[in-house]
Amino acid sequence: MTNNCLKDMTERVSRGHIYIQNKNIGFFKARSIIDTGFVEHGFTGRTGGVSEGPYDSLNFSLSRPDNMQNVKKNYELMAYAANFEPESIAIVSYEHGDGVCRVSEKDRGSAPNTSKSLPPCDGIITNDPLVTLVTLHADCGALFFVDPKNRAVGLAHAGWRGTLLRIAAKVVSAMQNEFGSQPEDIIAAAGPCICGECYEVDEELAAKFINEFKTENIIRRKCGKSYLDMSLCVLIQLAQAGVNAKNITLFDACTYEMKESFFSYRRDKGQTGAMAAFMRIKS
Ligand SMILES: [Zn+2]
Repeated sequence: MTNNCLKDMTERVSRGHIYIQNKNIGFFKARSIIDTGFVEHGFTGRTGGVSEGPYDSLNFSLSRPDNMQNVKKNYELMAYAANFEPESIAIVSYEHGDGVCRVSEKDRGSAPNTSKSLPPCDGIITNDPLVTLVTLHADCGALFFVDPKNRAVGLAHAGWRGTLLRIAAKVVSAMQNEFGSQPEDIIAAAGPCICGECYEVDEELAAKFINEFKTENIIRRKCGKSYLDMSLCVLIQLAQAGVNAKNITLFDACTYEMKESFFSYRRDKGQTGAMAAFMRIKS
């Protein structure tokens, strides 16, 4: 990451997030989640890893044809920089749906052999300090949830399918059911995703979103094309689920626009890696 790029990034995310580099790995962190005091979390950029070519360099994707030894090394680098055990992670099974699973110590593993037994899910929740939640992203949003009263956390991967299925609200609901969390106590924050100026969708999909969220504001029209604002959809569904707006932090930067900083599936036409989000309860 060049200094200009970093400066630009720092200014753009300064409202709700900070950028911290440790052992050559950079992490974006939400101030509101840091302030809860009992969790570690972060969202990686694409620099500091060992992958090459379109996966240059901090690629965490377990499904794309990168060298798996390099990917494994990237996980170890992240764990070392973020001070958790590489074998403590549970990763969503990445079904592009709305399933949410409670995970614990029994679901721990190390990449690429982790969470193989989880049912279809794009959200994971826990109150177990022995497990590190991980999700993978390249345009799709990461959503962090913290319930300070019950010391419980959740992490979700939200692409357009999960967003349309209201996965953010379903994580809140799962935390209510499993941990007794009250929505008004939950602190929620997003990682970077493709923004509402860049995410072109066809008319059929635009209509589905407008029908679900009952507002035209989530679709921008430019030059006869439609663009979907997934962050706004997350904000709407969290507010409707009872999360206090002052407890929601969106990420003001775009994966599609910032090639030096982020992988983007849309921009790179699928030939790209994936960033990681992680969160764990401090033991
Ligand atoms: Zn954008």
